[in-house]
Amino acid sequence: MDVTTTQVARGLHFVYTTLANWVVLTDGDEVALIDCGYPKHLPQIRASVRAAVGHDAPVRTVLVTHAHADHIGTAARLVAEDGTVVRCSPAEVAGVRREEKYQVSIGEIVRHPRPAVLRWAARAVRAGGLRDVAVTAVTALDGPLVVAGHRVEPLDLPGHTPGHLAYWLPDARVLVSGDALVTGHPLTGVRGPQLLHPMFHQDCDRAVESLDRLTDLDPRWVLPGHGRMLVVGGAYDGEPGWRLPSGEPVEHCGGHVAADLAAAVHQARGRF
Ligand SMILES: [Zn+2]
Ligand SMILES: [Zn+2]
Repeated sequence: MDVTTTQVARGLHFVYTTLANWVVLTDGDEVALIDCGYPKHLPQIRASVRAAVGHDAPVRTVLVTHAHADHIGTAARLVAEDGTVVRCSPAEVAGVRREEKYQVSIGEIVRHPRPAVLRWAARAVRAGGLRDVAVTAVTALDGPLVVAGHRVEPLDLPGHTPGHLAYWLPDARVLVSGDALVTGHPLTGVRGPQLLHPMFHQDCDRAVESLDRLTDLDPRWVLPGHGRMLVVGGAYDGEPGWRLPSGEPVEHCGGHVAADLAAAVHQARGRF
């Protein structure tokens, strides 16, 4: 499996995998995640924490963008092994507990019998996509918070699911967009800002409307739930040797570039 961990800012690491992404926030040994992959991503989760901290460390908090199996897949194991606190929007609590489920079914997927769809579905199932991922010990977020030394502001972006959140980290000017705005998915060959295929959204109209809430933000980086990271402001010229603010070379992470977030949103809308 292709896994790339990129330090975007101090104590802030983006983990890209071909199936789903997550973010590692650190402050010394204190570790928080935003999303936590499919159930079978646990070894990759542990490896990404080691890469970020320099050694094994327990995950104290998982902030959830939304209750899909590719975003909360390892949460129950983390709760059991690390005593992790799992948090999400009030409207997503029932989804994380699996009292409600707004996720595309196998029946819906096989209505789109293209080879790319079936290949992706097989990989998602192998990654544990059909397992029970319920987390009962989940608590609702009621506003901005500080986790692992980072101020984090939840943004309501319903549509993909009823309680989907993005997370704005104002100090690093990073937007963790979850599945409200992505830059790629194994289903399509399209790269760059986009919305997921309509079958993945609980309410497509709301998913499109929610994009408006992003356009006032002025991020330097957008870290999506699927696809490579988006560099905003044209700082990244794609040349070998270009470096992240942390000093790390970026050419291996294959980021996309947008002039500003409004332009990225416009592009995503145009492709939907
Ligand atoms: Zn999703
Ligand atoms: Zn997803």
